Amino acid sequence: IFILCPARLEVNKYFCRIQKSIHIMKQTLLALCSFITLLFGANSLHAVNIEKIAPTFWWAGMKNTELQILLYGKNIASSEVSLSGNQVILKEVVKQENPNYLLLYLDIAEAQAQTFQIVLKQGKKSTTIPYELKERERKGCDIQGFTASDVLYLIMPDRFANGNPDNDIVKGMREDKVDRNEQYARHGGDLKGIADHLDYIADLGVTAIWLNPTQENDMKEGSYHGYAITDYYQIDRRLGGNEDFKKLTEKAHEKGLKVVMDMIFNHCGSENYLFRDKPSKDWFNFRSEYVQTSFKTASVQDVHASEYERKIATDGWFTQSMPDLNQRNRHVARYLIQSSIWWIEYAGINGIRQDTHPYADFDFMSQWCKEVMEEYPHFNIVGETWLNSNVLVSFWQKDSKLAAPRNSNLPTVMDFPLQGLMNQAFDEETGEWSNGLYRLYDYLTQDLVYADPMHLLTFLDNHDTSRFYQTEEQTANITRYKQALAFLLTTRGIPQIYYGTEILMPGDKSKGDGFLRMDFPGGWPGDRTNCFTAEGRTALQNEAFDYTRKLLQWRKNNDVIGKGSLKHFSIASGTYVYERSYQGRSVVVIMNGTDQAQTLDLTPYKEILPRQEATDFLSGKQVKLVDKLALDKRETLILSF
Ligand code: CA
Repeated sequence: IFILCPARLEVNKYFCRIQKSIHIMKQTLLALCSFITLLFGANSLHAVNIEKIAPTFWWAGMKNTELQILLYGKNIASSEVSLSGNQVILKEVVKQENPNYLLLYLDIAEAQAQTFQIVLKQGKKSTTIPYELKERERKGCDIQGFTASDVLYLIMPDRFANGNPDNDIVKGMREDKVDRNEQYARHGGDLKGIADHLDYIADLGVTAIWLNPTQENDMKEGSYHGYAITDYYQIDRRLGGNEDFKKLTEKAHEKGLKVVMDMIFNHCGSENYLFRDKPSKDWFNFRSEYVQTSFKTASVQDVHASEYERKIATDGWFTQSMPDLNQRNRHVARYLIQSSIWWIEYAGINGIRQDTHPYADFDFMSQWCKEVMEEYPHFNIVGETWLNSNVLVSFWQKDSKLAAPRNSNLPTVMDFPLQGLMNQAFDEETGEWSNGLYRLYDYLTQDLVYADPMHLLTFLDNHDTSRFYQTEEQTANITRYKQALAFLLTTRGIPQIYYGTEILMPGDKSKGDGFLRMDFPGGWPGDRTNCFTAEGRTALQNEAFDYTRKLLQWRKNNDVIGKGSLKHFSIASGTYVYERSYQGRSVVVIMNGTDQAQTLDLTPYKEILPRQEATDFLSGKQVKLVDKLALDKRETLILSF
């Protein structure tokens, strides 16, 4: 029994109020804590410090419904992992030898776009990592890859134009100087520099740009070329970072230019965190001792090759600073595949050029191509297949009979043998059975070896070879240039032109690779000459530029060349004749491969000459096609019917 006296009641009320205040304070404190957690994410008030998340985000509604998330942070492996999200299922948590890694495998088949939480619990402390599944910006089938209707313009981003001198040096990065007089140093070119000159590129008439690697190369030296990636999800900040890459792609698309991104799955840079602090030893090949690749990748398909040679070729490191990734490790494989899909989805790129394709594991590369093409059915991938015969190159193309029952699934391979022949053919006198244009004819007669010869990448030179002109003196012979370009842009294949070719930039590999990658004149503030304008180019450069532009503009949207079949004739009177034809229209190319005037008997060509007169596209003159045709020395005719 208990009696309430008025005084007692007052005291009780007082305590109630205090309790209420404490409760409110507690609630406020809790809310504040949650707010701070939201604000600073994983990096505050918690046990676990996450240094890297790869991929940084992903998308809902992808064809492949599995997602690997790699988490990197000091001793995170002892965490208990849970997820809170809508229809996001944690299938598997994989620990590596190294306690600083956790690999999560998620099933997101039913998940909508959302931000879900990854919770890592260590004892009583827990860390919450928000992870975003974005809405897709486009359907996979909306991405159009590059085809034979395109011409690619290859650019080394450090060497084309410097659009933002402020990013030349980024504090904290290992190579922190710029020296334009030093061939292997960084020169300061960037993605904004390319974006600023898209009008020049589009006006030239190419329809796609292929950029040498743009992903982060935080290496002590030689980082300018980009082939030693230190973070697969980061565009090098000295080139402008991820935002500038996305902006450049969007701007290129607005101007009708496709974008091809260079990727490297065979190796990464030795400063990559995945190598510096390996998840497991088996993420890399030859982990106990340094073994360099022999570069003899023919051993991959050589029926007589020894296991020893095959292993050195594919598992050896590219250089000491480029350790060889083991794509047979399923986690490595998934990491690499996802990184490529991330870039396609993030930036909307139209194609990938895969570096050192035959150096990586065949089955992995095949699986990668298959998955990309399933996600993006109209996409295209070209592999760097630097092999010196058509038999060896053809092995790497999708549906190759020579590789069967295996299939690389790689739609486009690089025609290195033709590149070598083109660099001889236009310097020699053409014979009926040897030399000059005979080499090109002879090579193309063997196209049956290719599963799809129309989709080979064809080129006179690239960033790894001597340029078509090795010295400036050679550029005086502009006829050589004109014939080679006419051939490249009218024969079968997807042509690629290396930046600077249009202004006769020379480059000799024996002087060093850096000399093949000289700065485009006018790309840097204060450059004495500016070859982006007609006034800045010499008369000879303008002749080359105008000729290239004329051919490229004509080739653009010209289905006879882009989609047509090829019929050619054996050499007669030192002259090579071929026809491209598509839906009742045709183009006939007649090329005199000698330093003498020729009289060509037209009898063999009746089936490709529907009329007795035609206009030569190059000179504009009328050409009579009756009985015999007189050709000047090294003359090229392009006739449309
Ligand atoms: Ca710059």
